[in-house]
Amino acid sequence: MVFKNSLTVKFMVGIAVITIVLMSINLLWNIRQYNSQAESEMKEKAAVIAQQLVATRAFIALKQDTINMNANGGYEFKHLNPAAVGKGIGEIFNGYSGYKFKQIRPQVRDPYNAPDNFELEAMKQLAADKNLKELWGYDEIDGKRVFRYLVPLYYDESCLSCHGKPAGVKDISGYDKEGFSAGEFAGSISVVFPMARFEAAQRTNVSSQVVFILFMVFVSIGLTYLMMEHIIIMPIRELTSKVVELGRGNLSAQVTEIQTYDEMRSLAEEFNTMASKLHELYNNLEGKVAERTALLSKANRRLLEQGNKLQAMNAKLTEADRLKSEFLAVMSHELRTPLTAIIAFAEILLAEGDTLSSLQREYLQDIFESGHQLLSQINDILNMSKIEAGLVKLNYNQVNISEVLDHLRHSISPLLSKKGLAFAVDIPADIPGIVADREKVTHIFRNLIGNAIKFTPAGGAIRITATLADDQQNLPAVVVKIQDTGIGISREDQKHIFDKFRQVDSAESREYPGSGLGLALARNLVEMHGGRIWVESEVGRGSTFTFVLPVIAKGC
Ligand code: ADP
Repeated sequence: MVFKNSLTVKFMVGIAVITIVLMSINLLWNIRQYNSQAESEMKEKAAVIAQQLVATRAFIALKQDTINMNANGGYEFKHLNPAAVGKGIGEIFNGYSGYKFKQIRPQVRDPYNAPDNFELEAMKQLAADKNLKELWGYDEIDGKRVFRYLVPLYYDESCLSCHGKPAGVKDISGYDKEGFSAGEFAGSISVVFPMARFEAAQRTNVSSQVVFILFMVFVSIGLTYLMMEHIIIMPIRELTSKVVELGRGNLSAQVTEIQTYDEMRSLAEEFNTMASKLHELYNNLEGKVAERTALLSKANRRLLEQGNKLQAMNAKLTEADRLKSEFLAVMSHELRTPLTAIIAFAEILLAEGDTLSSLQREYLQDIFESGHQLLSQINDILNMSKIEAGLVKLNYNQVNISEVLDHLRHSISPLLSKKGLAFAVDIPADIPGIVADREKVTHIFRNLIGNAIKFTPAGGAIRITATLADDQQNLPAVVVKIQDTGIGISREDQKHIFDKFRQVDSAESREYPGSGLGLALARNLVEMHGGRIWVESEVGRGSTFTFVLPVIAKGC
């Protein structure tokens, strides 16, 4: 049996505490009731005793003449006045009852009647207040607790023969008269009850009640234990064991041993329903998982097959691409040789043929220009094929942008003047040289400037600027802008012009010959240096091609 922190222990302790508290309150209430009952009982008895003595004294006072009459009918003081009779009765009474009473006065003739401290204090109060008919309280005499009760006595006419006026004159018993008048405070009758009997009864009462409290505590603890065990703990244990079983995977666990007809029973029924539903769900789930797993592995197999097919296709495509690039490279090379010869002979004939007619000269000029155009297109194809085949390596040098442009100016000047285009270069002197492949940088400029010239109608302007800035990796880079006032490029076309063989399909651009490789090549070459290129343009208002080259090319 594990009691630690168990519900049963908590309930048992709780019930014990509640029982003890309630029974203790009851006990205190009983003690209080008993005390007040005992007090009123003692007061009543004391009052009866005192009144009896008062009555006796009155009777003796009344019968003084008869008592003091001798056999001859004359007067003979017999010493049986109220005080003497009261004292005598008191002595007899005190001897056998355990209770005591006496008559006391502030100034006594007989020391027997002398008051003690309690009585003195009480008499002061009684003398001061005539309405006070009795006084009581508790005191200790010889180490024992006592109940004390006092009633006041007043002088009446019958007392004055001994205690009246004139003061100092001897009375019949030989004492000096005190000179009192009727109605004056004379003293008290003091009754003393020992408390021992009441205290013993009180103790018996308290101890029997304490025993009863303990008995009640044990009974309530025992009953709580039994009730808790049968009504709550046993069903909870049964439920817990089934929950544990369920948790361990036994989904057919059912609570069968809870036979109570209360909330525990409903809980058990709910548990059974939940367990059955779980079981059902699990069975369905298993079926579904198996079904989905089969579907998944089927899809997986298909994916694998298709992956394999794709891989094979990719290998074929890569091979085809390599073969195509190789073919293009070879073909371009083979085409270049005769074409160079054609251009060279046309040039020689143009230079030396003095006998040529103007028509022949025109034809020759055509051959020369078309040859050049064809050569440049073949060169583009050749370069692209080489780049794609991974055959192009960068040859790093210190490159000065202004020098590259000066070098190019020589070949573009005839074209600029032919179309009447303004050409401005704005490169600050402090733009540093970059570490790059001079030939490739020249190629980038040639393609972009060539396009600017080609797509800018006569009378337009081309402007080239360069600035120093930080690139995306926060490294120093040179930003070059080639700005023209040409036909412009629509937003849609801007997305594709850097792809190879892509040309803008518009009436204006169709007028200009080209391979559709210039920008693709420029982009490839810029990116090989670790740079970027983009265009901003508006149709009819010109274009600005910007490329950024790191001051020190990546990978160099
Ligand atoms: P192409 O040999 O046809 O010039 P590019 O790759 O150099 O091939 O250019 C692709 C297309 O981009 C061009 O056909 C042209 O339509 C457009 N384009 C390029 N540069 C400019 C420019 N500066 N102004 C207007 N259109 C341009």
